[in-house]
Amino acid sequence: MSIVLQPLKCLACGAPLKSKERDLMLICEHCGSLSLFADGKTSPVEFAIVKPTVEEKDPLWYVPFWVVNADVIVHREKISGGGISRAVTGQKQMRGTRDFYICAADAVPEEYARVWNMELTINQPEFTTIPEFKNGSRMVMTMEKDTAGNNAEFIFLRYEAEIPGTLQELDYDFIVKSAKVLYLPAYKKPTSYMLGVLNGK
Ligand SMILES: [Zn+2]
Repeated sequence: MSIVLQPLKCLACGAPLKSKERDLMLICEHCGSLSLFADGKTSPVEFAIVKPTVEEKDPLWYVPFWVVNADVIVHREKISGGGISRAVTGQKQMRGTRDFYICAADAVPEEYARVWNMELTINQPEFTTIPEFKNGSRMVMTMEKDTAGNNAEFIFLRYEAEIPGTLQELDYDFIVKSAKVLYLPAYKKPTSYMLGVLNGK
């Protein structure tokens, strides 16, 4: 058995790319472009860097998220017990075309990632972006795009399951349309992480 190791090249300028620390986002040391590493090769990826709106003294990290844009179509939903609909309780519906935020760095403990994913997905924030990783470091991205798509669907199901009463039946379609990478600023506190954006402003 033999394998051919193709040298990885920057899609923007052609310079050789070095992979380190299993980061799925490869930065070109020559021109600074970022490429996605998947299936043994590099491919173009849409990405943006979000400007911090909160200032802290702790180290600033830019945490990669997959922003999965998906169509959520619920054909039928049957709830027994509580049965109070979201329209009555004022809770937001997770329906239609929307973005799902999936933290893509396993350096962030699950307990924080899970809360951020749900809050960002419910609030659908709008961010101000900046051209570079200012005053902070880029965190290694460890999650592949397909995994992010599956996790997005899981967020939807978890949200549906939180409706008061017992969810007996859910007939739905979850169609992933696109996915891009968003680096969100976060401060690493001695024992926790804190997002560097409040309410998306
Ligand atoms: Zn380059």
